[in-house]
Amino acid sequence: MTQHTLSHALEQDRQDELASYKNEFYMPADTIYMDGNSLGLLSKRAERTLLELLNSWKTLGIDGWTEGEHPWFYLSEQVGEKMAPLVGGMQGEVIATGSTTTNLHQLVSSFYKPDGIKTKILADELNFPSDIYALKSQLRLKGYDPDEHLIRIKSPDGRYLNENDIIEAMTEEVALVVLPAVLYRSGQVLDMERLTKAANDRHIPIGFDLCHSIGAVEHSLHKWGTDFAFWCTYKHLNGGPGSVGGLFIHEKHFGKAPGLAGWFGSKKESQFEMDHRMDPAEDAGAFQIGTPHVLSLAPVIGSLEMFEEIGMAKVREKSLALTDYMLELIKQELAEFGFTIGNPIDNTRGGHLLLEHVEAARICKALKEDGIIPDFRTPNGIRLAPVALYNSFEDVWHTVQKLKVIMDEKRYEKFENKRGVVA
Ligand SMILES: *Cc1c(COP(=O)(O)O)cnc(C)c1O
Repeated sequence: MTQHTLSHALEQDRQDELASYKNEFYMPADTIYMDGNSLGLLSKRAERTLLELLNSWKTLGIDGWTEGEHPWFYLSEQVGEKMAPLVGGMQGEVIATGSTTTNLHQLVSSFYKPDGIKTKILADELNFPSDIYALKSQLRLKGYDPDEHLIRIKSPDGRYLNENDIIEAMTEEVALVVLPAVLYRSGQVLDMERLTKAANDRHIPIGFDLCHSIGAVEHSLHKWGTDFAFWCTYKHLNGGPGSVGGLFIHEKHFGKAPGLAGWFGSKKESQFEMDHRMDPAEDAGAFQIGTPHVLSLAPVIGSLEMFEEIGMAKVREKSLALTDYMLELIKQELAEFGFTIGNPIDNTRGGHLLLEHVEAARICKALKEDGIIPDFRTPNGIRLAPVALYNSFEDVWHTVQKLKVIMDEKRYEKFENKRGVVA
């Protein structure tokens, strides 16, 4: 095997159809960025569209709502349409709006209809805390004790969830199911199609959090019959810190009243009639609340151009090739250093890997000092995300080599094994 040589990495880069996209991005100086699953990098196209929208404000003032290259009034719908292929959404099913957590609140407010013994929300114990906080607070708002009414499916090993366990828990007491598409820590991709079918069969609305899956894996939400989904755009979609998120509402729910109403959920034609009776949009647009955050939406326009050009199938193909290669190198080069691979090694992994180690916090600090940007997740996780659009096989090779030197020379020992404030 020659896989451990730099020349093998360079050869794979030469054969990589997407290699040129690396030049579309700004790389922080002297670094190899492996943190695209937390905050994607700025692309030149995202910068361009941000400046275009800034300029429309500068030159048009209030007329920017209806004039200029990207009139602000229709932007959420337009960006929604561009995001739809990434989630497998049809016309009108996707809207760019809000953030992950606020969209989850909106969707639970709209889809959670407790009735009789059907009061429970089914979630999991591995989900991102914000989702769980939102679900608990929604239960409290309805007068239910979250300890009793929020079911969190247990993980057999602290890393993965078993779809059978989830389906078994879809009882007649369950009023709503909310699950991550890709687990933020282990990167496991849940079988959304199977879970959707099971929930549909039992007439329980089901929704997925796509934060770690959008832009990393393919989805067919419409075809599967998934009721709703929500996501952010600052991870694999490279929209920038706090960029506007998105949501999907299946066509079968068009006409449904939004739980949290606001004037931007109105039909476009009648919004400015200023009537006190709301006339909601027929489609996903109804789930918007207030004025869109135009300048935080602007970079997403440019970023999505690249996904449109390439298509998700190719993005996923390269992502899997990069993580496959990284796994292979980790096996070859790091076997003696006490790492555990915490992600699925088959194709049920998303866009990042998880290396577990008791010294993870300070190994991450040592990596950063050497110009490799990983992502620490307490208590013992090192997440590494070689991203299809801007990471190369060479990047992967250098990352593993650096890790090997750090472990070999115990260079992490000069740091404290504690996380930073943002980690
Ligand atoms: C990143 C992420 C969030 C963050 O939510 P915000 O509202 O954007 O702060 C929530 N849930 C999951 C699963 C995430 O990965």
